Amino acid sequence: MAMIIKGFTSCAICGSTDLSKPYTATSGVAFPKEDELWRFCDAPLHFDCLARWPHRERFSRGYFDLWKDDSVLANGVLSGGRAWVLRCGPAKREADPYYAEVRLSDWPMRLYSRWEQWTDFAAHQYREGLEDEALKAADAAMAEVRKVAADLESLSVLRQRMLFSPTSH
Ligand SMILES: [Zn+2]
Repeated sequence: MAMIIKGFTSCAICGSTDLSKPYTATSGVAFPKEDELWRFCDAPLHFDCLARWPHRERFSRGYFDLWKDDSVLANGVLSGGRAWVLRCGPAKREADPYYAEVRLSDWPMRLYSRWEQWTDFAAHQYREGLEDEALKAADAAMAEVRKVAADLESLSVLRQRMLFSPTSH
């Protein structure tokens, strides 16, 4: 996650240091230095600003595609749709992962839950801190995610399937 220094770090889109409005930040850098989107990586971005930002989809897609190319990150993938991916943190086979998360293809945010809190998270807690367009995008993705992992039990089934599928390492 980007390093945030209060009153100093600014939203890379509007340049304001007012981070009392909801914002997100990516972790890592998905674009080369020559790319115009490079300076938005690893920096706070207001949800408000993102909603109106013409580069949002390409920016988000850059991070989303990292999952497919990075075998370490791709390793925890439990399920995915056209516009989202559900994955879990690394853990020993016999232990529960520390977290589960949903990433979207057109918003650079991470819907993150402690593994054991998944049932509440998937039902409504993911909405905390989100509003307007970002919330709409999260609602749409989570409605699909709930079809495959509505609660902790179904999430665990997905993980077992991943662990014991012949393609998993
Ligand atoms: Zn902003």
